[in-house]
Amino acid sequence: MKIKEINDGYTTYELTDEECRKLLKEGDNALQYTYPTPNSGFAVALMTDKGNIYTGASYASDTHNLTMHSEAVCLARAAQHGETRIAAITGPNCHNCKQLIWESSIRSKIDTVIIIEEEGEIKQVPISTLMLYPWPDRDGNK
Ligand SMILES: [Zn+2]
Repeated sequence: MKIKEINDGYTTYELTDEECRKLLKEGDNALQYTYPTPNSGFAVALMTDKGNIYTGASYASDTHNLTMHSEAVCLARAAQHGETRIAAITGPNCHNCKQLIWESSIRSKIDTVIIIEEEGEIKQVPISTLMLYPWPDRDGNK
């Protein structure tokens, strides 16, 4: 992982193909921890700016609206280890989770990269490019 660019006070990291594939694999491996039924929901993995990896698996509720998405679980797990500077996270992600990742990005000033594998090709997409009219804006204004 290296710094790809620093723009407007935001750092964007670039992972190696090997790191991307490792993250995607760790996310897939975490599917076994989906709750209440293993391998039935969603799972992701993230990499912090220190290069540490955390995984998250969805935790479903019968109410549906109390279901915790794997991204929320993953970000919370990293935060519980004092790690809130997220360089990359696997995707694609639902819009609620894009919002969570965006807010994390604003706080850390890291333009978190979404790692997506599409037809065998790895793509690294900065969260800022997925938020056309973000709330709050990049300066934190609501
Ligand atoms: Zn989600």
